[in-house]
Amino acid sequence: MRSHAPVNSLVSPRFSGISTFMRLPAVRTLTDVDFVVVGVPFDTGTSYRPGCRFGPRAIREASSILKAYNPVLEVDIFEQCAGVDYGDIDIVPGYQEKSYERITAGLAPIFASSAIPIILGGDHSITLATLRAAAKAHGPVSLLHFDSHSDTASEYFGERYNHGTPFYWAIEEGLINPKTSIQVGIRGPLYDGNCYDYPRQKGLEILSGWELHDIGLERAITRIRDKIANTKVFLTFDIDFLDAAFVPGTGTPEIGGFSSYEALKLVQASCLGQHMIGMDLVEVLPSLDTAEITSLAACGIIHEFLSVLACNKRGATV
Ligand code: MN
Ligand code: MN
Repeated sequence: MRSHAPVNSLVSPRFSGISTFMRLPAVRTLTDVDFVVVGVPFDTGTSYRPGCRFGPRAIREASSILKAYNPVLEVDIFEQCAGVDYGDIDIVPGYQEKSYERITAGLAPIFASSAIPIILGGDHSITLATLRAAAKAHGPVSLLHFDSHSDTASEYFGERYNHGTPFYWAIEEGLINPKTSIQVGIRGPLYDGNCYDYPRQKGLEILSGWELHDIGLERAITRIRDKIANTKVFLTFDIDFLDAAFVPGTGTPEIGGFSSYEALKLVQASCLGQHMIGMDLVEVLPSLDTAEITSLAACGIIHEFLSVLACNKRGATV
């Protein structure tokens, strides 16, 4: 057991105590930790149903059900990794650019450290500020993006920043390398037929939801792995990648999507053995959730990513 590990749930039952992610200690430290969990409770960038500012709390609450050992990967997360719940970034509700400054400033020391940030959103607009912090430490990174939306519009309502625009600006600002990045699961109706022109012109691969269904998981995983291999990768996971039936608690749900199993398999097999520099999980909207199924999916996906980090630390064999 490492220096920073969860409360022992065989001594203190999982439903007791104050909710931190996976019952980790609430400590704002970057010393002797392999990952830190950080909340970004910001939803001013939402274009449709608001409320995912409460996402970090809901994910933490649901995560108390998680256990350390992943039987598929045969790894105990906390035998390999120490982690803490770092708390939340103090955003400014209602103010996009002021919040961006605070998010970037708050996350920069984490990206500059040896700890990997696990970021709980919040709406997807936060990822632009996150990538600004990531790029300061790592230079342009590869983006592994699961979503039903490309989020590459240049503006909405005459404004640059909301949850539909982060990756347009990430490309324009040189924060990601589009040629080693991929968007997976993109689907649903669009405002017009030109919505994917910009990312495609920039060399950003879009593996659409329909194509993913057609080619199946194994071929998709090969494509993803080939795309991001031998680069520094940031995983951004919008919970609406999953079918609306699996995630009622999200702001812009889409049908024709994917199951929680498919999400776990894709994250696991895509990230194993890769150079992952962080992840975020965004767009969980608890007030529209039912029986915590959206939060449960969110914290399960994060658990899979942490299991992969543990395998990578142990020395992954792919
Ligand atoms: Mn999104
Ligand atoms: Mn989305």
